[in-house]
Amino acid sequence: MEKYRGVKFEMVEEQFPIDKKDRLKFLAVDKVLKKFLKTKKNEGNLSIKTKNGFLIKRAGGQMTKLTKNDVILVRKISGRKVFCSGGMPSSESRMHYEIYKNTPAAKIILHFHRDELLGKLPLARVGPFSYGSTALAKAAGRVSKKYSLFEILRHGFVIVGKSKNEIFEVLKTIC
Ligand SMILES: [Zn+2]
Repeated sequence: MEKYRGVKFEMVEEQFPIDKKDRLKFLAVDKVLKKFLKTKKNEGNLSIKTKNGFLIKRAGGQMTKLTKNDVILVRKISGRKVFCSGGMPSSESRMHYEIYKNTPAAKIILHFHRDELLGKLPLARVGPFSYGSTALAKAAGRVSKKYSLFEILRHGFVIVGKSKNEIFEVLKTIC
């Protein structure tokens, strides 16, 4: 897989406060993910929709070990510009944004890596694409209208949920 070289978008820093309850909810989900995912570095990302955008993992943060400062608010995205508060959001912020835009019922999105399962599950697939690319964001947005679980070829998986429990249920069946 392509080596991680940082984010590929332009960050526009804002100063919107992050709701404490939303942040705690985000960190609580990350903690439960420990049951299913063994992360090594910064792979994968989680986001949760909020009333003024979505919360997402900080770029470089390690899933299942996130702390307060790893939770970033993305308010909106316009082309390559990502408007955010709290730090640099995940390199896949644009993918999460496209999924929420295309699938209004989506409330929570998990992207994770599990190399040994790549190509082995009977899933909808997109790609392969370069990480953080516009092509990946658009394709993920399109496929999410029909499939709540799909594979990014030679890369990883995406689960789109209406609730955190939906995400955990899917993880239980595939991990
Ligand atoms: Zn990934």
